[in-house]
Amino acid sequence: MLVDTHAHLDDKQYDADRDEVIKRAAADDVKFIINMGADIASSRKALVVADNYDIVYAAVGIHPEEADGMTSKDDYILSELAEGKKILAIGEIGLDYHFRMDNKEKQKNVFVRQLDIARQLHLPVSIHARDAHGDLMQILKKEGRGVRGTIHCYSGSMEMARELFKMGWYIGADGPLTFKNAAKLPEVVQKMPLERLLLETDCPYLAPVPKRGKRNEPAFVKYTAQKVAELRNIAYEEVSRITTANAETLFLER
Ligand SMILES: [Zn+2]
Repeated sequence: MLVDTHAHLDDKQYDADRDEVIKRAAADDVKFIINMGADIASSRKALVVADNYDIVYAAVGIHPEEADGMTSKDDYILSELAEGKKILAIGEIGLDYHFRMDNKEKQKNVFVRQLDIARQLHLPVSIHARDAHGDLMQILKKEGRGVRGTIHCYSGSMEMARELFKMGWYIGADGPLTFKNAAKLPEVVQKMPLERLLLETDCPYLAPVPKRGKRNEPAFVKYTAQKVAELRNIAYEEVSRITTANAETLFLER
């Protein structure tokens, strides 16, 4: 069975058929799904979805695109939401300089504050990093000390991945691994220790081949698992056994 370690089932694209989407995942060998928060409202909604389905868990967090409006009052709300019994992580949090370059300091500040919340609550984190790998590494080495987690939708180099693994971090692979124009990720997946790999969909975005361009959903995590098996020349069952054990180690063990 597989784990979708990063999904956005609270997205309004599922309002019409969320129930079917989640049942399809359960019927298609998905053991559990972690629904990420992106701001306070979607973190609350993630909790509601998790409360309604056994296989859905939640993370709460402020996405870097939402960093501007975040105040210390939100830190308090987040820590309170994070006490929920189906909360497995703080996420998604991080840095996105592709989206915006003009508020780097604010993004860093909001990211570091959420790393503090994760450390205090002994929760792992799911990190979004786009065009910001230098600052990410600097922050993880300093303010990220004592925090565990994953760099989701990994787009960095093998060299950076090696550094992350030494520091105990995981990386997440999703749809882009299956794309014809995939950049560095296939090489990273080929060479890395599988004990550091997590699977995810980031649904509704980034549907893997052969569903590319369509709305993504947790059941499609199998296509990314198949691609990993192909790249590593090992059985699909082996990929699912290892990545599911990794997800359970990171998110279920305290
Ligand atoms: Zn995401």
